Amino acid sequence: MTQPIENGEFLSLSRHHPEALSGISAFTLDNGTQVTVTAPGIISFTPKAVNANTKHIIYSCGVHGNETAPIEICDEMVKHLLTGKLQACHRVLFLFGNLPAMDIGKRFVEENMNRLFSGAHSDGDGLINNERIRAKQLEDAVSEFYASAPAQAPRFHYDLHTAIRASKNEKFAVYPYLHERRHSTGQLAFLAACGVKTILLSESPTTTFSYYSSCQHQAHAFTVELGKVRPFGENDMSRFEDAKQALTKLVTEKEFAPEVDLSTLDIYRVNQVINKHQDDFTLHFADDTPNFTDYAKGTVLATESGASYETQYDGEAIVFPNANVALGQRALLTVVPTTLENPDV
Ligand code: ZN
Repeated sequence: MTQPIENGEFLSLSRHHPEALSGISAFTLDNGTQVTVTAPGIISFTPKAVNANTKHIIYSCGVHGNETAPIEICDEMVKHLLTGKLQACHRVLFLFGNLPAMDIGKRFVEENMNRLFSGAHSDGDGLINNERIRAKQLEDAVSEFYASAPAQAPRFHYDLHTAIRASKNEKFAVYPYLHERRHSTGQLAFLAACGVKTILLSESPTTTFSYYSSCQHQAHAFTVELGKVRPFGENDMSRFEDAKQALTKLVTEKEFAPEVDLSTLDIYRVNQVINKHQDDFTLHFADDTPNFTDYAKGTVLATESGASYETQYDGEAIVFPNANVALGQRALLTVVPTTLENPDV
């Protein structure tokens, strides 16, 4: 039964014939790479030679099922690794997040999975659904993968997404809140090599996948938005070429270390996290307003019964607006330009 997977059809088997994977746990490719399949949509590659310089890299995609471009990029990379067209120089784990949501072409089936990490999947209300079960399974896969790495080994996790709406800055990344750790210049250079030159510094703990790996495993972890959501097969893959190249080189080259002039990056910090508390929550700008559109101080961005939300600075910009979230969830972020203080080299 290992024939199809060795032809590279891992995602397709995971989505359409997961039973075909049940007998497969680990096997070795002709080039010596060890392949481990933990579950549908969860596969890792370990090169023959692992040492202190080996990177431990995680690429996750499809945590939102309709964000197809990153899924297509990871699917192709997995295919090429399985067929030997590419050879991993570092350990790499691929996580195809929400397989049922991919099948229906939706962001999620019951619940936004990227609000379910750092244990939120098991929060007190007792609710169990496929997204909660999967979020726990993904966390476990991350823990297991990093558990095989020496304590000081470099850990990376890029959680790849595409945004619902257009963006003035097409590609951007969310840098999770680091607590006492410092921002990494090397990581910003890698993101710039991916074509991601807008960075949003989060300043509080969240329940996203990237924050989980950053906080729990001290990984260099990011939520990376690579462009706009489109159905499978309708992506203009040329727009993703830089990202694909850089993501591939990180895995296949011994020392891929791009550089960046920090002054060429647009760096923002989160100023307001606006949650929806009432059913009548309304955004006061057009539905198709691009991410990073900015406003003058005092502009009303949203209202709901008993509350009005205004910009507090000139140039304060909107990101991720979505009035259709569940009560209590984030409906809008606002960001303001900032500079990095004291980044790590
Ligand atoms: Zn997403």
